[in-house]
Amino acid sequence: MLRTHKLGEADRIVTLLTRSQGLVRGVAKGVRRTTSRWGSRLEPFTHVDLQLAEGRSLDVITQAETLTPFSSRLGLDYERYTAGTAMLETAERLVAEERQPALQQFLLLVGGLRALTTGEHRPGQVLDSFLVRSLSVAGYAPSFDGCARCGATGPHRAFNPSAGGMLCADCRLPGSATPAAETVVLLGALLSGDWAVVDVAEPRHLREANGLVAAYLQWHLERGLRSLAYVER
Ligand SMILES: [Zn+2]
Repeated sequence: MLRTHKLGEADRIVTLLTRSQGLVRGVAKGVRRTTSRWGSRLEPFTHVDLQLAEGRSLDVITQAETLTPFSSRLGLDYERYTAGTAMLETAERLVAEERQPALQQFLLLVGGLRALTTGEHRPGQVLDSFLVRSLSVAGYAPSFDGCARCGATGPHRAFNPSAGGMLCADCRLPGSATPAAETVVLLGALLSGDWAVVDVAEPRHLREANGLVAAYLQWHLERGLRSLAYVER
């Protein structure tokens, strides 16, 4: 469940990322009545098993069963909650087309939310790892090792979101960032999910990687993610 918005007096339009059909929108009838039979099952973050019936313009949700109530596990922790919100928004933005299977994005999102709730890793890095992997699945894989332009073997020093990642000395563009070597290693670890490296990284490298991931994401979405503004950096 990614997002909901009001429809008429008592209904909501629910935006979902599904395992088999990608992005789907459906109407939840009567969900805003205090006596609603839906309870919290149709709220953002909830992983549900659901049935849809074809409606005139939008499909109608006829049944929903909670598989994992991520929202109740995230709700009390501001940092985890805002990281989770940014994940939901990114997933919706990167799977722009409705009814196009997006299994990898679905699995990344469920895995990312699960990692946020278990608390094994810091929320900021769970989010950053999700963002670079989600961008990769969407076709915007960053290069943190070889040069993003000519492919020359790294490590390289310049980072430029518009060029797709790290650039060698020959391909370097004006205005590129020059992150610390440790930050570049960290970025690669966030992309590959190498938590042994991520979990022991120093705060200044985590912060630097964090800023570069945000810059990369914003470059690849036509406008910045609203929810990223609330994530504590
Ligand atoms: Zn190059």
